[in-house]
Amino acid sequence: MPQPDRYVSVKIECSSNHSHDICVEVDRQVPPELRCEPNAGPGYSQGGGGGGCSIPSSAQLKELTRRELRDNFQESKRRGYVLIRR
Ligand SMILES: [Zn+2]
Repeated sequence: MPQPDRYVSVKIECSSNHSHDICVEVDRQVPPELRCEPNAGPGYSQGGGGGGCSIPSSAQLKELTRRELRDNFQESKRRGYVLIRR
């Protein structure tokens, strides 16, 4: 069952210098500022554009997101998303 209050809006800055918007499910509630709409599938757009972007696996993403929420919670909340740099 989807829990909308556990989906975090994440932006990944990949090695090609663009940002990828991804919805990551975490194991805790997040404030409304950081939530995103869970989509039917995982928010990956790999293969679209064929950019050869390296995006972490969903397990890695979960871990990175959790760490960012712990270390940079206030800043992420102000931004409205969690920023992950590769
Ligand atoms: Zn990219």
